[in-house]
Amino acid sequence: MRSRVYLDWNATAPLRAEARAAMVAAMDVVGNPSSVHAEGRGARALVEKARARVAAAVGCKPAEVVFTSGATEAAAVLGRLPVASVEVDPTAHDCLWSQRRAGEGSRAIGWGYANNETGLITEPPAREAGVPLMLDIVQAVGKVPFSFAWSGAEMAVVSAHKFGGPKGIGALIVRDGVEVPAILTGGGQEMGRRAGTENVIGIAGMGAAAEAAQRDLEAGVWDEVAEFRNILDGALSSATNNTISVGKGASRLPNTLCLIAPGWKGETQVMAMDLAGFAISAGSACSSGKVKASRVLKAMGYDEAQASQAIRISLGPGVTKEEVLRFADAWCAQYRKALSRAA
Ligand code: PLP
Repeated sequence: MRSRVYLDWNATAPLRAEARAAMVAAMDVVGNPSSVHAEGRGARALVEKARARVAAAVGCKPAEVVFTSGATEAAAVLGRLPVASVEVDPTAHDCLWSQRRAGEGSRAIGWGYANNETGLITEPPAREAGVPLMLDIVQAVGKVPFSFAWSGAEMAVVSAHKFGGPKGIGALIVRDGVEVPAILTGGGQEMGRRAGTENVIGIAGMGAAAEAAQRDLEAGVWDEVAEFRNILDGALSSATNNTISVGKGASRLPNTLCLIAPGWKGETQVMAMDLAGFAISAGSACSSGKVKASRVLKAMGYDEAQASQAIRISLGPGVTKEEVLRFADAWCAQYRKALSRAA
């Protein structure tokens, strides 16, 4: 029995063995991918192999993958498009979609495809000619089938650490023929779109994780995760008659449960469960710790109190039914205590 149970996969997923092995191997590759000699070509081969693997997982062409330091960096392109206003999906990710430009004229849209706090999957709005669309598919990749080619979007952003790759590496996906400003200028790396010597080790880890994530998705590993999430949902919701399971019954990620527990602050729940041996979160990883009510839940119509009483429990393959039931018991016991203290 594991003494710590990690139920915060939407914040970051544990590193996959395949990613670790690919990174360890890449550490001994001496060349710079831009060098023409054999050592350089060796490093270039690793980068291109990873590009093809990421493309296969995302459903795009390898040439449409631009490696970046993560999804946040990739998304910054949206704010730099030569347009007067950028519209953002209010239920999308807090940290990512902070850029909003005032003004009239040509527009671009940033759309959170799968929300990290609620797990809700929302298809983008009907397309308008001349309005570029960027999809945040960070939480979707590897968890639900997705094809960039079929999405019709001009751009998408992905992050390796959400599907078992290392932190600090991600990609901007840009549809063939779509013009976007360079993210970083200097050398001509990444087809002139993101200058700077490639993070070969991170890229190799991302590629290996992408391939393994796609394999697992096709093998149906998330079906059992969804089953355990639903068991947990049922156990927590039946513990008291006033909890709210956000988005229950709607299209949502297989692993995510967002629960509002009236009378018990989200941060207090996180601390109580941490002491009991479980890692969960209140809101998104980058806004948690700031003791703020969830903007996402408020945008969905929940009030300030409800938005501050929410937790996110996000499972992954390998989390056992016994762990989920143990969590449910511990959470219910703590909630009863919290309610009796408040009474
Ligand atoms: N978009 C979503 C939906 C996320 O959940 C996250 C990470 O929390 C990000 C973007 C940011 O990704 P990165 O950590 O690669 O910058």
